[in-house]
Amino acid sequence: MSESIQTVDFARRATDGKVNVLELTLDELKAWLADMGEPKFRAVQLWQWLWQYMAQSFSVMTNLSKAFRARLEECAYIGWPHIDRTQVSSDGTTKFLLRLADNERIETVLIPSVSKSDNVRWTQCLSTQVGCAMGCTFCSTGTMGFTRNMSHAEILGQILVARDYLHDTRPQWPVLRNLVFMGMGEPLLNYRNLERVLVSLNENGGLNFSPRRITVSTCGIRKGLEELGASGLAFLAISLHAPNQALRERIMPGAAKWPLEDLLATLNSYPLKTRERITFEYLLLGGVNDGPEEARQLVRIVHSVRKSKINLIVYNSTPGSPYQAPSEDRVLAFEKILWDAGITAVIRKSKGRDIDAACGQLKASALREEGQTEDL
Ligand code: SAH
Ligand code: SF4
Repeated sequence: MSESIQTVDFARRATDGKVNVLELTLDELKAWLADMGEPKFRAVQLWQWLWQYMAQSFSVMTNLSKAFRARLEECAYIGWPHIDRTQVSSDGTTKFLLRLADNERIETVLIPSVSKSDNVRWTQCLSTQVGCAMGCTFCSTGTMGFTRNMSHAEILGQILVARDYLHDTRPQWPVLRNLVFMGMGEPLLNYRNLERVLVSLNENGGLNFSPRRITVSTCGIRKGLEELGASGLAFLAISLHAPNQALRERIMPGAAKWPLEDLLATLNSYPLKTRERITFEYLLLGGVNDGPEEARQLVRIVHSVRKSKINLIVYNSTPGSPYQAPSEDRVLAFEKILWDAGITAVIRKSKGRDIDAACGQLKASALREEGQTEDL
């Protein structure tokens, strides 16, 4: 059975006999329309309506014949995620709680930044799974456990919702500039859909995101890392968070099953383009991994992996969590040890603290309010 037919079958199973056309990559759309006896250029036209003009019904696609639109109406639909909640932080960070067709909920966050010309540019943080199986002890998503992978339409649907919200309709001058796969879930454990999504993002005439505007963050999954590296479809960020195996086992039990030493060796042979670097993400947890000894161990790691840099993230505290944010003094002392060793570490300001903007926090607080859980 061909790939496209499998995908169509999946989408068909999901809803009463109709296909969510957003589930298909451009190649799959071409194959599907060819099966219907339609010429190839129809797929390109439809693609542009779906992803560039963000059409939510076939009826607005006026350059397609009425007969073709009627055929589409019969066997397909355009299924966007539904916005359950929107929260805007005092710093502009905007978080959406989205409801998927089976009522599962996921989060996506828009983070503003101001460019040299004073225009606001946005970065979107995307989810790839409902929940996560990796069980990192500091992460709200990790404590929820794993429910399922998100599909092509569900992952990209987050971008449609955000562009619609931002009125981002000029492909030549996009307001939504960058995408980071740092929301709920482990992207490399949903690699098949992640790769289809990255291919779709890169298509002309649609969302038009080149790999240079996309970062995939992972806690480190061997097979997925090899596949992502071979694809060259995004920058790579590694959630390191602990500079030695024992501490990593304590705070990231799932990820640490793959020994740190092996992860670092794989990163050293990861294919990188000119001037491209691997980013290490290091979440500073007060009194856990933010001491001078950990900083010195981190220096050794960054020096051991060619072409790498480091982002320090200050922990955003979550109700019921055993962790605390580090004190400012400790953050600065930690950063100084890295700087003294010649490492340019950037402290990533934690945006949207007042709206639970860290991964999984909004869903966790929604569940708490709705009384579905007591201990998140
Ligand atoms: N699973 C992937 C993708 C993103 S995870 C990964 O682990 O890289 C979400 C990101 O949010 C991780 O970098 C994690 O460190 C960060 N995060 C989770 N909980 C947080 C919190 N309470 N405060 C700040 N960052 C947090
Ligand atoms: Fe999963 Fe990433 Fe959260 Fe760890 S930090 S539980 S890998 S989403």
